[in-house]
Amino acid sequence: MTFISEIEKRRTFAIIAHPDAGKTTLTEKLLLFGGAIQSAGAVKSNKIKKTATSDFMEIEKQRGISVATSVMTFEYGGRKINILDTPGHKDFAEDTYRTLTAVDSVILVIDCVKGVEEQTEKLMEVCRMRDTPVIVFVNKMDREGKDPFDLLDELEQKLSIKVRPITWPVNGGSSLKGVYHLLEEKMNYFKVNKTKLEDDVKAIPLDSEELENSVGDKDASQLREDVEMINTIYDSFNQEEYLGGHVAPVFFGSAVNSFGIKELLDTFCQISPAPIARMTNVRKVEPTEKKFSGFIFKIHANIDPRHRDRIAFLRICSGTFERGKFYKHVRLNKDLRFSNPYMFMADSKEVVEEGYPGDVVGLYDTGNFKIGDTLTEGESMYFTGIPSFSPELFREVVNTDPLKAKQLDKGVSQLAEEGVAQLFTLQPGNRKVIGTVGELQFEVIQYRLLNEYGASCRFEARPYSKACWITSEDPAKLAEFIRLKSNYIAYDKDENPVFLAETDWILRMNKENNPDIEFHTTSEFK
Ligand code: GDP
Repeated sequence: MTFISEIEKRRTFAIIAHPDAGKTTLTEKLLLFGGAIQSAGAVKSNKIKKTATSDFMEIEKQRGISVATSVMTFEYGGRKINILDTPGHKDFAEDTYRTLTAVDSVILVIDCVKGVEEQTEKLMEVCRMRDTPVIVFVNKMDREGKDPFDLLDELEQKLSIKVRPITWPVNGGSSLKGVYHLLEEKMNYFKVNKTKLEDDVKAIPLDSEELENSVGDKDASQLREDVEMINTIYDSFNQEEYLGGHVAPVFFGSAVNSFGIKELLDTFCQISPAPIARMTNVRKVEPTEKKFSGFIFKIHANIDPRHRDRIAFLRICSGTFERGKFYKHVRLNKDLRFSNPYMFMADSKEVVEEGYPGDVVGLYDTGNFKIGDTLTEGESMYFTGIPSFSPELFREVVNTDPLKAKQLDKGVSQLAEEGVAQLFTLQPGNRKVIGTVGELQFEVIQYRLLNEYGASCRFEARPYSKACWITSEDPAKLAEFIRLKSNYIAYDKDENPVFLAETDWILRMNKENNPDIEFHTTSEFK
């Protein structure tokens, strides 16, 4: 196989959803179709149950599982498909955002009963920042859910994206008869069949009598009406628009019944993007470039204190990654090589000799990597578009064991590098403030500091609600602002100044009063 066809073959994506919409079930069904697993139940849910908030063993177990299921690879329809797993729990949303920087497209799962939920909206915002192509799968059609047209309207309004149905449900809930493929004009009949994957698909032109014979008069005329309505309201499907992130094709089905999944997967294989070009601080990098480049989007620490090694997840962006070859770690300006890089199958991992753009490789790391680090074959550039987002909860780390101050410092900064939470250093007194999006992250930090670094601490709430990265075209004005607001200025892990605002109102006032200062809610800005 040529280098180019290796790239063309790859599809790297993530499934995102509000918890309980059916992400795990859908992932499993895709793996079953791909022959990557043999039976349902093989994919462990990486969910942390709400009741387990303070059950650290549960967190540990979850961490173990999420290494194994970080990337799931299978072949289907001539494609090599890499699914990047994302944590469902909202307290680990930052992890999900970062994983989204390493994919080329996304499948968004919606529960037809609940519609667009809070977490869905946030995840879509991140997709839109990067114009990531999105396919929507409306799940649980075997339940009495919302009207499909209302769901489409809700998707458009709440997610600010145009939609275009590709499959359409014939009836719904307990009367679900099947889904009609609007592009192929084929009907797939619904059978309650949780184990087998064969389906009953028949080509039925809408205007043939066969439609009446197969679904009955009422549903046949309803389907004709619906299709006419769809063709009136929605533009015909345009792949370019989808690839540009401007329109989301929509599929209906039921993951638990393996229904409507094959349509989704087949169309995904046809329309979704192969590995795309990526921006660096100096230029755009095409996947087809001969020289290797890639970036680290996730770091997973071994929670066992006797094995302090970490696994850094590398997304290959261009060229061929080879085992044992020296590559340049751009930030450290240092050459590193990896003798045991591995790739992940559905439930195992294996050492690999090489990887291609779109692939994700796990690298053993002894502390060289931070999230966002770039590896190249010599060029000094780094990939952009891997931002931090403003946290929502802020707490100061207070050392409770004076003899372990060093360990605490080291632990806190290493955990920040891994991306467990964000670290801000407040200038007066060098105080450390940790920013998170959820309570659970603080518990993980406290637990890990004690277990892995032998350091104990407590957290003191700080009244900030938002962190804004600040810049100015006039360095003197920026320095003056920092001096005047010194009590509210902190520095992030890369030493960039951040303004910590207590309320939205305070932030607004500061913006109005300081027109020369720019306030950014993510760490990366154009
Ligand atoms: P996740 O949190 O998004 O990973 O959701 P899961 O895949 O764990 O599914 C949440 C619950 O919804 C589980 O109890 C599933 O069995 C159930 N579920 C998933 N798909 C369907 C479906 O198509 N129909 C129905 N009725 N239930 C489903």
